[in-house]
Amino acid sequence: MKKNEHAFDLLPGRRRFIQSIALGAFSASLAPAGLLSGKENQSFRRKKGQMFYRRLGRTNLNISEISLGGSPVPAMPILHQAIERGVNYIDTSHNYMNGNSERQIGQLFKEMGRDKLYVGTKFHLRKNWSEKSIIDSVNGSLRRLQTDYMDVLLIHGASSEEHLTDERLLGAFEKLKSQGKYRFRGLSCHTNHHKVVKKAVDSGLYDMIQLGYNVFDITDTEKDYEVYDDYLGQSGIRRLIALAKSKDVGIIAMKTLKIGGRRQNVEKYKTGNTTLYQAMLKWVLENKNIASAVIEMLTFEQLEEDLAVEAHSLSEMERKNLFRYVADNSKDYCHMCGSCQAKCPSQLKTTSILRYLAYHESYGKISLARQAYSRLKPSQTAAFCQNCGECERVCSYRVAVQKKIKEAHLLLG
Ligand code: SF4
Ligand code: SF4
Repeated sequence: MKKNEHAFDLLPGRRRFIQSIALGAFSASLAPAGLLSGKENQSFRRKKGQMFYRRLGRTNLNISEISLGGSPVPAMPILHQAIERGVNYIDTSHNYMNGNSERQIGQLFKEMGRDKLYVGTKFHLRKNWSEKSIIDSVNGSLRRLQTDYMDVLLIHGASSEEHLTDERLLGAFEKLKSQGKYRFRGLSCHTNHHKVVKKAVDSGLYDMIQLGYNVFDITDTEKDYEVYDDYLGQSGIRRLIALAKSKDVGIIAMKTLKIGGRRQNVEKYKTGNTTLYQAMLKWVLENKNIASAVIEMLTFEQLEEDLAVEAHSLSEMERKNLFRYVADNSKDYCHMCGSCQAKCPSQLKTTSILRYLAYHESYGKISLARQAYSRLKPSQTAAFCQNCGECERVCSYRVAVQKKIKEAHLLLG
């Protein structure tokens, strides 16, 4: 039995492991198996100017390791600066900032030229969606973007694997493709990852996937691990990313700075000049199967902070401080696995509600959170919770689901 292990014997696997991090029982000097280490071949990335670029799977687009999030999109001078510094991919959607995200990117294309930036935008499959609703949404995006085509067209938040091969969806994709309105097909996924990503990859129909991936994204909680890297190595998300890579489907990581966006005071987790957020980005980019990390950069300071990151592996101290932060903050972190929502006898949208709560609490996106919440049917909200406790029983992460959805109802309802 190893040092410190006795104290954890009676704890369930995950809690035991979190305590082990706090006590420093992790393999700090080694990069996790299969991930980037400081000394290995770096041919999967190319440097041009100050920026590294990686291939986005079968799209063959070489995109910057750091790409821009468009919800919200930063002010024009920051956009200009980001592009001049080598950022060449921006992620947006028809509904970000009520369409103003796309409008601003359209203005940017006018000012700097369409060829300076790859754009990925999205459409939703909301209630009563049809081939026509998708085509109308895409035409609206093209108008706002002031362009004839988008580089990547994504389903926004694909949550059902069955939708991915639905004839209405494929019909819309085919028509838009024949009209030259997009180059590559993709999807973003916030929940039900295991089924959705697997189906997207197996179907051969999708060129890229945008997936939440951050230092908290750990899905396999039943086994006991002694060191944090081993624990992460078992992450279901990491396996899905590797699966996509094996079929040359490109992966862009989103939600890279979860929890808390940049709103927490995290000075105490700094390592020399490396901020906690830089360490988080480095952690994401250590995964060679990721083409880029999409991130909000709303100020010049944030831009400088993110662009200073080069994805050589984390130093021993950076890793240690990053994992200390995880140990201090991972309790009650919702990983959006969807299990509680699937099991709720009242069919409440618990996972969605927790995501909207995170928009509000962690990212300060108050109107987005309220709008999203307002689209739920009243019968899907906490007002109809029977307090049966099933959601908390199935949550491997011990999230206080009932308390949190009620809090969301008060804040957003
Ligand atoms: S406690 Fe409420 S939210 Fe949780 S499973 Fe039961 S009815 Fe659903
Ligand atoms: S609260 Fe738990 S079960 Fe529900 S989506 Fe989040 S991590 Fe999964």
